[in-house]
Amino acid sequence: MCLDLSASKHSFMSGLYIHIPFCKQACNYCNFHFSTSLQHVDAILEAICKELHQKAALLNKQTIHTIYFGGGSPSILNTNQLKKIVSCIQSLTDTSQVIEMTLEANPDDMHPEKLSDWLQLGFNRLSIGIQSFRDTDLLLMNRAHNQEQAIKGIQLAQEIGFNNISIDLIYGIPGLSHTEWLNNIAIAIALKVPHVSSYCLTVEPKTVLAYQINNKLLPELDDEQANEQFILLIDQLAANGIEQYEISNFAKKGYESKHNSAYWSGVHYIGIGPGAHSYNGTHRTWNLSNNQLYKQAIDKHSVYEETEELSPFDRYNEYLMTGLRTREGIDKHRLSKLIADLPIQTYKSGFSKWINEGKIIETNTHYFLSKDARFFADGIAAALFEKPSSI
Ligand code: SF4
Repeated sequence: MCLDLSASKHSFMSGLYIHIPFCKQACNYCNFHFSTSLQHVDAILEAICKELHQKAALLNKQTIHTIYFGGGSPSILNTNQLKKIVSCIQSLTDTSQVIEMTLEANPDDMHPEKLSDWLQLGFNRLSIGIQSFRDTDLLLMNRAHNQEQAIKGIQLAQEIGFNNISIDLIYGIPGLSHTEWLNNIAIAIALKVPHVSSYCLTVEPKTVLAYQINNKLLPELDDEQANEQFILLIDQLAANGIEQYEISNFAKKGYESKHNSAYWSGVHYIGIGPGAHSYNGTHRTWNLSNNQLYKQAIDKHSVYEETEELSPFDRYNEYLMTGLRTREGIDKHRLSKLIADLPIQTYKSGFSKWINEGKIIETNTHYFLSKDARFFADGIAAALFEKPSSI
């Protein structure tokens, strides 16, 4: 990742995130905020435009470099609906400096006309929710597409002119053998996809997957299987020039996600829509995750977001978490600056245990994870967290 979007140097840079909280059907593992009732789509889009207007002054104070439409499933919108939001953004802020505009898309929404319209609207990157090229996995996860649509969707997008394409793939799925997982990776490579985001299937509370496992309709997820598939992924993609630059993200040189890289570098971002989060360097804000309550609050000009001020501990711990997940790792100089705000003398003792175990590698300037430790990144970061009570 060659981007340097650190907040300290470039606090004027910003990302804009738009949350479209609708999906055709609920995937059984998903706990994002979305609704499968499409009755109120236009009303929520209206509210999103109102929120953009309410934040016009804030938007105008920033130079927006990346725009990301996520969800939910933004590709579910028809062209007029998508155009409404894009036009609203363009009418409120200068988008001439935008270098990356991403649309999350599901294969079952990727028809030739829609793909051409997305290009016309200015989207230059697609993040496609493939998850697996195997029908068995897609059925198990209750995805709305099949293998054929997955492959066709990518090919169509490429034919129509999208060359900056990311696909999501999930590993650790019950019944997914290593051979079948390698086949999924091989298909991604054969399709010449320049970016892959890959996640371990996890059981989130209150999901259908949690119900299925708790009621023994599916086996418990197997961490060892998942870790082995993660290592296979790292090796296979690297052998084909697609390098891991963050724990869950892999790209050919130059195709790293600028929007997400900015998140990990502490760049400010503005989130719009139900459940969207924002960050301004000192505060984190999140909108109501309920479509109707969000809409009512926007209409009444009442409060639709909650804010928390990040304490020096929060800022230190967040940097540990995000830094350890990236290829470059944690910059010692930046960590020292953050620790200067804490009532502790040194962070080094916590690191030495992991360095001695070979899980963290130390250079003169950075700490980063060894390949075998990457699967455990979040746990290792959490073990290094500092808390007021730990002093
Ligand atoms: S399409 Fe995406 S957001 Fe919607 S339910 Fe599936 S995983 Fe969740």
